[in-house]
Amino acid sequence: MAIQRLDDLTIGKIAAGEIIERPASIVKELIENSLDAEASSIQIELVAGGRELIRVADDGIGIRPEDFPLAVERHATSKLHQFEDLSRLHSYGFRGEALASIASVSDLTIVSRQATASHGMSLRTNGLTAPILAATAASPGTVTAVRDLFAEVPARRKFLRQDQTEASYAQRVVVAYALAHPEVRFELTLDGRTALLTDGSGDLGNAIVAVFGTEAASRMLPIVAEPPDGRDDSPVDADGALRPAVEVDGWISLPSLTRGNRQQIILLVNGRWIESRSLSFALEQAYHSLIMVGRFPIAVINIVVQPDRLDVNVHPTKREVRFSDERLVFATLQRAVRATLVGATPQQPIPSIEHAPMAAPEVQRRLSLAHPGQSYAHPPDHGETSMSSTDQLPSEEQTMSRTGTPLRVLGQVGASYIIAEGPDGMYLIDQHAAHERVLFEKLWTRYEQSTPDAQQMLEPLVVELTPPQLDALEASTEDLTRLGFLIEPFGGGSVAIRAVPAILLRRDPKRVLVQILDEMSQGGRGTTRLESLVITTACHSAIRAGQQLSLAEMRELIIQLEGCTAPRACGHGRPTMLHLSQDELERQFERR
Ligand code: ADP
Ligand code: MG
Repeated sequence: MAIQRLDDLTIGKIAAGEIIERPASIVKELIENSLDAEASSIQIELVAGGRELIRVADDGIGIRPEDFPLAVERHATSKLHQFEDLSRLHSYGFRGEALASIASVSDLTIVSRQATASHGMSLRTNGLTAPILAATAASPGTVTAVRDLFAEVPARRKFLRQDQTEASYAQRVVVAYALAHPEVRFELTLDGRTALLTDGSGDLGNAIVAVFGTEAASRMLPIVAEPPDGRDDSPVDADGALRPAVEVDGWISLPSLTRGNRQQIILLVNGRWIESRSLSFALEQAYHSLIMVGRFPIAVINIVVQPDRLDVNVHPTKREVRFSDERLVFATLQRAVRATLVGATPQQPIPSIEHAPMAAPEVQRRLSLAHPGQSYAHPPDHGETSMSSTDQLPSEEQTMSRTGTPLRVLGQVGASYIIAEGPDGMYLIDQHAAHERVLFEKLWTRYEQSTPDAQQMLEPLVVELTPPQLDALEASTEDLTRLGFLIEPFGGGSVAIRAVPAILLRRDPKRVLVQILDEMSQGGRGTTRLESLVITTACHSAIRAGQQLSLAEMRELIIQLEGCTAPRACGHGRPTMLHLSQDELERQFERR
């Protein structure tokens, strides 16, 4: 095939692919343009998740009439004139690509007026034909409206999620910028409903209340700034004052306020909202031993560095940045957060939930898992066993008792383990793992027989979900329904839970659903999506370690466990019980 130059239209569509992935990407670009135009108020409106309309109106400086035709031209920008300017850049935009890209995948209208101009201008284009320009009456500022997104790009359109999911991705963008710019008033409307409103007072605390709600905000605190210590290569101000090379401010949650995911960690670098696994990790490390594993703080972290120590031009959407001294940034972040937490919470660290060692290490090592094919009715041979080797997990077809003799419950150890006696010695049963196994098999059977044990809620439970949670929900709706869940969209990022599997009723269904969706969005624990769903539902519905059980409850659990086809391992494959045979006991006490 001959090599040919691509035509402009094709180039445009290819380039747009990098920047415009979904409505949220457009919201981001338009908000950045408004902020670059020094707006003090920005109104964002979405209809049908942005598929029908995305409209951003600001009261910024506007576009000069003579610049109008250039605004939607590729690589045309008012913000950067030569490459060297990049290192001194204070604006969000500089590539001059956003409007051109948006125009190539939608129907775009821009109306703008500079305060000093006698009238405004409007521009309309769909990227195919030359923009249509007209003089028009307008109030100072700029209104950009994007209609029929991806109407001509079916491949992209196909990848869009439900309106509700797209709307919540967009909402997260607005939230991030509202927190980055408390001095700007943000208003977000989704299908006519106000989803966010900040006051633009400049007080980050107020913006935090608007975003996270009063309740959560009351358990967050501002990061205390550390005085520069002169150890790093801190530059000196014109007036001789020492200025740290890296400064960190923002708000963080007390260890008592956590979330099951990182959605509410907002990282800003010089006011730019960025994605950074390593910075997020640095933050989480600062909470080490203060919050439980798998829980995450709420945080708005603003890192301020000299522009020349930062490369923002590593990604077209600028969501990634590169620091010239990463280690200093991480260390400063960690120290500031830790100092704030330690100063504010003289409380004891929460111990992580661990299963206490039940015997001296020597003895523990010798406690044996039953061999495959062996049950307490048939004494094992006296070979040595080890707890750790998974090849000794029981085979699926093995049942705990084929003799009909039930285990006799003796009591509970550490509110986590049931101690029981059988014809061949002692059993220590992990109550959580055992119950999880019971529920796992129940759910699985019901699923296969298409007879979910669904319980209607008296009142629908409304729960607000994050975009990844909504995504996970969308992908698993059918399986969830077959398991007994009935979940319906409820406007915005919310869903209404109308029914849940009966086993879940004693738990907090909202919380369990959120936990399930979080795990699913992180890939799930099983080999298939369905298996992950069943494992996670069973796990979060099961009684916990640390829960006191009555003798009757323990007996009931043992009976149910004995009814399982694979009673010796929980859904995750962890053992449900340890077995110390009569014979082993005698050897431990040196009776033999
Ligand atoms: P960039 O932001 O990288 O310069 P864009 O394609 O986003 O590129 O915008 C092109 C130009 O249009 C900007 O440089 C700016 O001059 C003008 N512009 C876009 N949006 C606005 C706005 N809301 N207010 C004022 N000027 C704007
Ligand atoms: Mg821009």
